[in-house]
Amino acid sequence: MTVGVPSAILASVVTLTVTVAVLLRRPRRALQTRFAALSFTLFLWYTTSAVARFGGDNATRLQLTAALLIAPAALSFFSEILREQFALRRLLTATQFITAVLVVAAFSPWGTHLAFRGVVTVFVVGAIGFVLHILFTQARNATLEAERKRMWYLVLGGLAALVFGLGELVVGAELAAAIGHVAGTAYVYFLYQSVLSRRVIDLVDLVGKAAVLGVLTVVLASIYALLLLWVGTPEPELWLFNTLVASFVILILYDQIRPWVEETAAKLLFRQRYELRRAMGSLLAQLRTTISIDEMTSQVLNAIRDCGHTSCAAVYLASEGEVEFRLEGCRDVEAPEILTVGQQPALLQQLRREHRPIAVDSLADRYRESPDNLTGGDPTTQRDHLRIAEAIETMRSLDAQVVLPMLYDDHMLGILTIGSSQSTGPFSTEEIADFLSVAEACAFIIANSQEYERMLDRDRLVAVGEMAAGIAHEIRNPLGAIKGAAQCLDPATLPAEAIEFVNVIVEETDRLGRVLGQFLEYTRPYRDTSQPTDVNEVVTSAVSLLSKGPLPPHVELTVDLAHSLPKISIDPEHLKQILINLIHNAIEAMPNGGQVTVSTAISRDATGEFRGGERGLHHDHTVIRVHDTGTGIKSTDLPRLFVPFFTTRPRGTGLGLAISARLAQNAGGRIDVSSRPGHGTTFSVRLPHRKS
Ligand code: ADP
Ligand code: MG
Repeated sequence: MTVGVPSAILASVVTLTVTVAVLLRRPRRALQTRFAALSFTLFLWYTTSAVARFGGDNATRLQLTAALLIAPAALSFFSEILREQFALRRLLTATQFITAVLVVAAFSPWGTHLAFRGVVTVFVVGAIGFVLHILFTQARNATLEAERKRMWYLVLGGLAALVFGLGELVVGAELAAAIGHVAGTAYVYFLYQSVLSRRVIDLVDLVGKAAVLGVLTVVLASIYALLLLWVGTPEPELWLFNTLVASFVILILYDQIRPWVEETAAKLLFRQRYELRRAMGSLLAQLRTTISIDEMTSQVLNAIRDCGHTSCAAVYLASEGEVEFRLEGCRDVEAPEILTVGQQPALLQQLRREHRPIAVDSLADRYRESPDNLTGGDPTTQRDHLRIAEAIETMRSLDAQVVLPMLYDDHMLGILTIGSSQSTGPFSTEEIADFLSVAEACAFIIANSQEYERMLDRDRLVAVGEMAAGIAHEIRNPLGAIKGAAQCLDPATLPAEAIEFVNVIVEETDRLGRVLGQFLEYTRPYRDTSQPTDVNEVVTSAVSLLSKGPLPPHVELTVDLAHSLPKISIDPEHLKQILINLIHNAIEAMPNGGQVTVSTAISRDATGEFRGGERGLHHDHTVIRVHDTGTGIKSTDLPRLFVPFFTTRPRGTGLGLAISARLAQNAGGRIDVSSRPGHGTTFSVRLPHRKS
């Protein structure tokens, strides 16, 4: 058996596998279907070539038929790649016609004639040559760097496959035929990758990897051959033994050789990429000891700028719940100060949804793919199409070739945008992966530094709180003395206007005393004084206490109690204080009178949380609602209601709700509020039946 047979069989196995792999892919585009057709005709060609080596007229006829089929298949595939080429399409029809005629002729008596073979060869080579010529002009005229590269790969690869493939025609030159088979298969595999992954730059990587693999194969095969030659092959047993020894030696050497070959190939073939990888590696090492965000930003931007392969970079940090991203720093680009979901919706939403890097060339490819679908008029597809266009536009305005999310625990804490230099074109997937590890390291630093800031804030607040409590205490004593002294003045001996001033002193010291008292109450450390408490009883006593005092005119206070409430674990005095605060607020919110209703009820909510190993346990609550028909609360004030010292009342302290919320929290509960400005407000105190 000559070497041409196994190589042809190998080629037919690969082409068939590729055909099946493409056909199995979903969704399948027209390009892929046509590629499958081409790859299938090549499979037929290699199979019939293998068979024809054993002789026979019919085998030759079949081989010629397979060769003929390649022409229209190749034309149809490449005309799909070069969409706008009408010339190719028209030619395709002609080629199909000629192919049909020649196929019929192949099975006529002249089918085995040498001259007929010549005609077929000229026809097929001519058709493929024409396609390559058009690809060549396209490659020369391509404006986009990426597109140009892609075309060049297709032209050069195709030319190599065609020239080597002609080796098949040289009768008796079996090695040439075998090389032709290998070259053809490699080209099919390359096309397969280019049809599946549209990122041209990854094809460059593919070529690089193939080169590494080739060098490695040659190096290892030489070692193998040398070892086998050295020991010779006199007997099968010895031959087997030698093979084992050779395999053993190669296995040991492989691990040493591989990194060296890869490193050297990377250095020689992809110098810039190699340097970028090293730069990112040392940047990552640097970031490991960085804690401040400023330092991080400048380290990242400097390293990216200095690695040569990039044109510009910018770092954005999230604020306002990841809706807004503010520029933290940039190099060599006039980046906008702020990115918001409102203004750059397509890009930011895609980043937030997909949580992975976005490269502008992939977007452009997706954009180019969709026009076909657009004719269907499907609104979803059209919207997608517009979104992609918008995202591309945004990335162009940022001068970014790739944008990377800084992800930490599913949160996008920032964005890194990087532009690639014109000369080197887009980044490869591996480069983007390197950038992504940098973005992840940044996210980690940001999260840590934010947590550190929060801790500092907490410590500061605790210190300020302690200080304030100390001062309040210091003020309270002299305040009592001032009030006492003022009250000691005998009104009979004072002029009339002085009596007025004395009253002001007493009133204001009272007010100050109240503020201090409440403040000290708020800052007092929590002590658990809870006991089983009948909520209805406390409500009744609080309401009757307030009803006894002077109520403003037209204010009505009513109670609506639920029966058979369980006892709640809370200090009854605390609950009373909460209710008095809430009812006071309600009354104060109704300067023109109205109705305050205090009601109690049981509420169940199945939160479905895990507790004690049981799922879906019901957390029962007693809810006390204080409803008024007063002024209501502005929606902008709602988030600040429970913040100490927030008040809208001229004589308010802003501590009532803060204290109440704290007391409710100590009992394991909380206070909710709902309000409609102009209609009224409801505060709901929710107290759990069992404290968790
Ligand atoms: P203060 O009563 O001393 O102002 P609070 O903490 O009790 O302090 O209340 C804070 C603020 O919340 C009040 O100033 C008021 O603006 C608002 N507020 C509280 N309860 C009501 C209510 N029932 N209706 C309208 N506004 C309310
Ligand atoms: Mg109040």
